[in-house]
This record gives sequence, structure tokens and C-alpha cells, in this order.
Amino acid sequence: MALRQRWAAVGDTLVVDRVCRGSGEALSVLVGRHQAAVCGYLSTCLMDHATVERATEETFRRVLEAAEREDALAINRIRLLATARTVAVQTWNADPGAGAATPEFLEWIAAGGAWPLATPAALYDAYRCLPVRWQVALWHIAVEEDDPALIGDVLGVSSARVRSLGHKARHSLRDFYLAAYERAVIDRPACLSYAREQVVLASRAPGTTMTEHPPNCRPCARVERNLSDIDAGLRRQLPGMLLGWWNDGRYRQMKALALRDGDPRPVARRIRDT
Ligand SMILES: [Zn+2]
Repeated sequence: MALRQRWAAVGDTLVVDRVCRGSGEALSVLVGRHQAAVCGYLSTCLMDHATVERATEETFRRVLEAAEREDALAINRIRLLATARTVAVQTWNADPGAGAATPEFLEWIAAGGAWPLATPAALYDAYRCLPVRWQVALWHIAVEEDDPALIGDVLGVSSARVRSLGHKARHSLRDFYLAAYERAVIDRPACLSYAREQVVLASRAPGTTMTEHPPNCRPCARVERNLSDIDAGLRRQLPGMLLGWWNDGRYRQMKALALRDGDPRPVARRIRDT
């Protein structure tokens, strides 16, 4: 039976636990689930293919070392990509003259590695209130638009359950989002009643409104826009807020290319042997 099928729906937490106990096969499984993403992300930072491959291995190594050091099993895609970004910056720092960084990444570094903190990101604030498991689910579903079978494996559920998990997570996010908005507009009766209507409407058909208020009010119209397509809003806000550096189009393209590269076992072996 193929590696992936043998470990289907064994969640990342359990896989990392096995890795920490020395299982080489578990490490191959972990690498197989995430190497295309890590490699794709690093390709948005660094030019040279061999450098990207080395940085990919270094990323896994560091995250696993941290997991062992902290005695924590919380390895997830976001943490891997954040570590990849640090590895990319350090790789470039170690040899800036070699032209190893992509021009856009270089621009980002030159600007001080700016985080888009000034952007209004109310969806992000609500997202941060969710349990980590739901944050990870929404990251894979909304931002990365990964294959449900892969998301199921990562979370340790069947692909059929991924949909309902995403639904629950979005519902909860919507509650946090509206609760924060209600607090923000407590002194504006029309906006407050609009926000409360949205809470009621959450249990009815999506996108329906009871008042004419939003078209005349910019903040409420923004709420309407964010809630009408939560996944699109998360795709807009999360990567920049969580990772700082993000090149959406290039990342998707390079991840799709890396997915074709297949066998995780040689990479896992090199990670283990170094
Ligand atoms: Zn309003």
C-alpha cells in the first residue's frame, strides 16, 4: 500500500509525535504533505533551485528541532511557511552578493520586511480568536485551497468531514467578527441594529439583508462584503498578516509545479541524516 494511503487521516499531530519518536516513515509522510508548499513558498523568495531545495530541508529540520525542544507537537503549514521565510532571509543575508533572492523578495527585505499592520483586518482579528485547529482548517481551505483529501489527512479526519469542519469554523469566525463589530458601533444605533440583524441572519440564507442601511454606510458595507464571501476575505487578509511576505500568484504556480515532484523519501532521509 502506498505511503499516503497507509497514513490517510492520521493527523499531523500524531505524525509529528511518531517523528519525534524516531519514525523515518512518519517523517516521509510529514514531508509529503507539506514539501510542495514549503518549496513553492521558498521559490517566491529565492531564485536558485538547488538553494530552494536546501532551504526546504532546513525549514523542516528547524521546525522539528523546535517541536522536540518545546516538547510540543504543534507543527502546521503556517508555522512551516513562517520558518521558511526566516530561512530565506538568512540565506540571502549570508550571501547577498550572489543574487540569490527574487527581485520582489529583495524589495520586501529592503523595505525592512514590512508587515501590513496598517491594513484594516477585522476578519484576521476574528480568525485569531478561533481554536488553532480551526485556524489551520481555514488556512488550508480558504487561503491555500488545498485538496480536501490532503486537508483531511492533515487534520486527522476523512475528506468528507473537512467540509463540515470548514462550515463550523466559518460560522464561529462570523460570530467573533460580528461581536467585535457590535462593540465598535455601540454608539451608532443604525449600525448596531444592522450588526444584530446579521447575527440573526447567520442562521438563515446567506447574503440576505433586512434593512437598507449598508449601502449608505461605509463600515457596514465593508462588513457585508467581508461576510458575503469569508474565504475570499481570508485569502486577502491572512497571508500578509501572518507571514508578512506573500506573493499569491507566484506561490500557487510554484506549489503546483512542486506537487509534481513526488517522492518525499529522499528529502526525509536527508533531513534525518544531517
Ligand atoms: Zn452602519
